[in-house]
Amino acid sequence: MNAHFRPGRGELAHLERVSVDQSFHGILRSLEAIGAAGVALAVIRERVPDHEPEPGVFDAAVRFLTSLNEGAPPDEALLCLQIRALALLGFAPTLDRCVHCGKMPALGRAASFDAARGGIVCTACGGGRLILSAGALRRWVVVQATSEFPAQPWPDRERQEIRDALAQLDANHATVSVRERTAAASGRWEGRIS
Ligand SMILES: [Zn+2]
Repeated sequence: MNAHFRPGRGELAHLERVSVDQSFHGILRSLEAIGAAGVALAVIRERVPDHEPEPGVFDAAVRFLTSLNEGAPPDEALLCLQIRALALLGFAPTLDRCVHCGKMPALGRAASFDAARGGIVCTACGGGRLILSAGALRRWVVVQATSEFPAQPWPDRERQEIRDALAQLDANHATVSVRERTAAASGRWEGRIS
């Protein structure tokens, strides 16, 4: 959709004209897809500060809506979008090594996850509250490195583990200020919350 507007007083703008480039009518065929689209747009609205362009997040959102429109599994598509939005906004968790000591988890093994510390934490460093199985870890890393959306549902357990870890990250980031978010995008964020 293209919206043309001119700035008005304060937060209000004058909408001059709107045209639709691409519609996503297919989403309306499924209640789950409608729900996932609503949650995704709410997450983006909450995370991206006003008047701050985030073209990467916008592209990811369009791809997400396109995938839902084409029948992608809604739960998995939503999780993919959340993972990518976090990464694009500078909050990708560390999943390849312990955030504290840098020790890499054994290949094919589950790891313990702590959102407040920004990723996986080895047992010697105190571990975390959640477990990410090897399958869930692998899936997350792949999703973060690509822009595709899944055509098939994921195994229930992996989907639930990723959903729980994202919810924990989300609760954690809800208290992070925009200033810290900017620092995170430049790699200076160390998991501190305000
Ligand atoms: Zn460690």
